[in-house]
Amino acid sequence: MPYNAVMNAPAKSAAELLATPVQFLKGVGPQRAELLERLGLRAARELVFFFPRDYQDLTELSRVADLTEGNLVRLRGKVEEVDARTSASGNSVLGVLLAAEQGRLRLLWFNQPHLRQRFSLGDDLLVVGKAKLNGGMWELVHPQVQWLGTEEDEPASKLLPVYPLTEGLSQGQIRRIVAGAVELCLDALDEVFPAEYLAQHNLWPLRKALEQIHQPADRVALELARRRFIYQELFILQLALALKRQRGLGQPAAPALEATAKIDARIRRLFPFELTAGQQQAIAEVAGDMARTQPMNRLLQGDVGSGKTVVAVYALLLAVAHRYQAVLMAPTEVLARQHAATLEQVLAASQVRWSLLTGGLSAGQRQTTLEGIKRGELDVVIGTQAVLSSGVGFARLGLVVIDEQHKFGVRQRASLKQAALDPHYLVMTATPIPRTVTMTLYGDLDVSTLREAPPGRQTVNTYLVEGDDRQFKWWEFFGRKLREGAQGYIITPLVDDESEAAAASVEQTYEALAHGPLEAFRLDLLHGRMTPAAKESAMSAFRRGETQALVATTVVEVGVDVPNATMMTILNGERFGLSQLHQLRGRISRGSQPGFCAVFAENPSPEARQRIDAFVATGDGFRLAEIDFQQRGPGDLLGTRQHGMPPLRIADLARDSAALEDARRDAQQLTQEDPGLSRPEHARLRTMVLRRYGRVLELGDVG
Ligand code: ADP
Ligand code: MG
Repeated sequence: MPYNAVMNAPAKSAAELLATPVQFLKGVGPQRAELLERLGLRAARELVFFFPRDYQDLTELSRVADLTEGNLVRLRGKVEEVDARTSASGNSVLGVLLAAEQGRLRLLWFNQPHLRQRFSLGDDLLVVGKAKLNGGMWELVHPQVQWLGTEEDEPASKLLPVYPLTEGLSQGQIRRIVAGAVELCLDALDEVFPAEYLAQHNLWPLRKALEQIHQPADRVALELARRRFIYQELFILQLALALKRQRGLGQPAAPALEATAKIDARIRRLFPFELTAGQQQAIAEVAGDMARTQPMNRLLQGDVGSGKTVVAVYALLLAVAHRYQAVLMAPTEVLARQHAATLEQVLAASQVRWSLLTGGLSAGQRQTTLEGIKRGELDVVIGTQAVLSSGVGFARLGLVVIDEQHKFGVRQRASLKQAALDPHYLVMTATPIPRTVTMTLYGDLDVSTLREAPPGRQTVNTYLVEGDDRQFKWWEFFGRKLREGAQGYIITPLVDDESEAAAASVEQTYEALAHGPLEAFRLDLLHGRMTPAAKESAMSAFRRGETQALVATTVVEVGVDVPNATMMTILNGERFGLSQLHQLRGRISRGSQPGFCAVFAENPSPEARQRIDAFVATGDGFRLAEIDFQQRGPGDLLGTRQHGMPPLRIADLARDSAALEDARRDAQQLTQEDPGLSRPEHARLRTMVLRRYGRVLELGDVG
């Protein structure tokens, strides 16, 4: 239909038509325009791309006669009776009698009296729930309910779109308004992709997909329509990231630090073990990056204990071999010292000059170290955030390695980058990040992954221990293992590690254990309020085996490596996140003996319970990261707002990972064929990328 027939006005350009204020659309007017504005809808174009958040599926409805106990059913019916009562004990029960095809059934809600007012006699409902037979009547307890509106005539489609609403606007109204806008604008919309691209990638053309996403003919059509828009959204995002990377290529140079055969052999000789295949691969990738003048920008991720340190040490020594300085930063003093101990061993027979720079140094020591760094007399610096503080100037900084990156704020990273002029840059994390997230938030980083642990690594047996079992089974067992020579941790409830409360909680737990189940053993404690010297002495006594068990906060979460420690008790496990639990457990999977980890939980919420169950069920950090991702949902996990990225409108990173992989690969290919997207057939793609991501990714005027 030509636009002007609908508009009843002289012909307009497509652009004008799409920009038509919603007020002038069929069925809107000034009042409803205000309601639409609240939904962020101002122009006709925005209505067209206002996608349903759900669909009411009127296909394949169940019939009362065919119900079976315990099965999930979908039924349509009319409200015949509403009955709310309060029992003697004060509990409320809401019953709704529904007349469905060939029979009646009852919907029940307990203790949700406010729902009463939402039901009126005669309402046409679509309900989904588990069927239960009770005294000859089928019941659905706490079913999902959708109201099917009050349109006189039956809708043509059996899949009705459900749009986000605002007060004063009904589902029926918005359906008609959107349908009108789609009809009006459809022919004015230009395809975003070149025609061959659509064909090659099996994507539905824009107009067909738009029609079907609003008024699907059936499930298959709906899926194909959604696929097109999900792909498009992810593809635009990946194009933006690819363009950002390409821009990075033009940046000033870093030193080319090639791992020649001679250097490579000299470094590898220092390692006391065979490298795993994953380590070999990661080292090859790092060395490949460092050989180029484009600064390395790589994320190395690997589960706790997967052996990331060796890769870091290789990179440090590669920089030093070329007479550049390198810095290794850790999030805690304990971990920095542990790295120092590792380096001390590895470098015992070498000439590499290195030093530790942490908050624990005296003013004099600090001064000497800083001067050594400035004059280039120190090759490697290991440190905490203290490295970042002002006054640290490197003579020839070639490489920055940041361990346990998830502990660093984005700002700290940035300030380090400024302090150092164009070093290569390697970040390491033991919090496996779901691939979909690395591909978006960290889309401008290259990623190396250590999948498997070094050989001989034992698994950790994990249990949820409740009630009397703590006293009579777990502590008994814990003690027996200590007597046999193992060491262990007791992790106190999660509170801010630096806080007074954390210290108090550690001290209390310590007292309770020292005068209770662990009185026969040498215990010590560790928390964030202790001085660096006190922490270090507690850690080294534990490392030497003088202390049998350490009562600690999550200070020990990160990177601590004591192979003989194989026992762990986590108190108040319900307060910890899944990845944190897994990090903690990683502390006891370091040696050749199997580990044992108990989680105690106090009245866990259903979500906490789910987390702990997942934690008990699997030891695979990548798997747990995915579960965490699914459980927390995309909004939270991505923290997109924190990263300043606009939210995704239709794609969902947790669900659409396959589409994301496709989009990423295709985007990389396209930007290789057409850097800057300057070909005319890519002009629309380029506009969309810049409109959406130009500012946040600082793409400037690409191409
Ligand atoms: P993470 O990835 O958690 O930082 P580490 O680098 O601390 O892991 O390594 C964990 C332990 O595994 C260390 O004791 C380390 O010496 C040991 N390790 C690392 N790589 C290997 C290997 N290829 N063979 C044997 N042991 C290894
Ligand atoms: Mg580590």
